[in-house]
Amino acid sequence: MISTIGYCQAPLNKVETVDEIIDTTFVNLKDYSSDFIYDMRYATDNNFLKAQVYDCAECLIRYKTVKALIKANNAFMRKGFKIKLYDCYRPLDIQKRMWTIVSNPKYVADPSKGSIHNRGGAVDITLVNFDGEAVPMGTDFDFFGIEASHKYINLPTDVISNRKFLKKVMTASGFKSFDSEWWHYNLKSALKDPVSNAKWDCN
Ligand SMILES: [Zn+2]
Repeated sequence: MISTIGYCQAPLNKVETVDEIIDTTFVNLKDYSSDFIYDMRYATDNNFLKAQVYDCAECLIRYKTVKALIKANNAFMRKGFKIKLYDCYRPLDIQKRMWTIVSNPKYVADPSKGSIHNRGGAVDITLVNFDGEAVPMGTDFDFFGIEASHKYINLPTDVISNRKFLKKVMTASGFKSFDSEWWHYNLKSALKDPVSNAKWDCN
């Protein structure tokens, strides 16, 4: 069995190589559902770092996070929407690389502390309709300004209600929102999971 505890360096994109899937096992979301849309910004240079920091776009997260995400996505789909993912689990080495590019805790979590993305319990998401069209959320992903905050209400009414809809379903599915970033959600139980440096294979 591939270890997912601590700073394991082993590739773990192949679910079949894991003997037993438990809640904290890292798995690839696409192996459990084909109902998600992907726009993994850090696998491109279309992000605030202006740098590609992932070798390829994969959404690895702990199995319990996958289960909660699928629950949320099913609820969104009943209303005509789907989750689009911007970021999932982020290995600690990638966090360090991001920190080297932008060493400011306002924009990048300090790798010495680690973020919930490093623990496999956080996702950055938005909603699209079944045609893939973006649901207006007021700002782009990783917009660093007050307009991205859940507390900022000087926005069009449809944006406010879209953010509320996202938050309501995610919260009901076991996630916690983050005040200053409308796109960030983390599983409530993720904080006690260890930071990881496990990597996925890019084939
Ligand atoms: Zn995030």
